[in-house]
Amino acid sequence: MVAHAGDAGNAGSVLDPVRCGRYDAVFAFDDPDELVGAGLSCPACLEEATQLSVDVVDGELDARCSCQTCGSTWSLALRPKQLLRLSLDPPTTADVRWSLALPPTMLPPEIEDGWDA
Ligand SMILES: [Zn+2]
Repeated sequence: MVAHAGDAGNAGSVLDPVRCGRYDAVFAFDDPDELVGAGLSCPACLEEATQLSVDVVDGELDARCSCQTCGSTWSLALRPKQLLRLSLDPPTTADVRWSLALPPTMLPPEIEDGWDA
């Protein structure tokens, strides 16, 4: 008896690429690189070598992300402080790109607020 002959399931597929999920970015302005990199990592396979394309959608910061390892795509909601962190000191793991439509007014005017030095 061949019980599993017609079983066209997920055999062999370990990764399940994420499509079009939306997440809040979870790093802080003054977090170290490792935490920022982790905050940008792939939600499916946790790979940190991701590509981000930062844009403004409906007046909100939005980073469209893709994983170069498993092919997942998702988007991140960024706060202005997080955007500032990415622009001043981007993590080495992620490839961050900027939309030309990004208005400078999205950046917070007081950079010092949040520094604890
Ligand atoms: Zn991935």
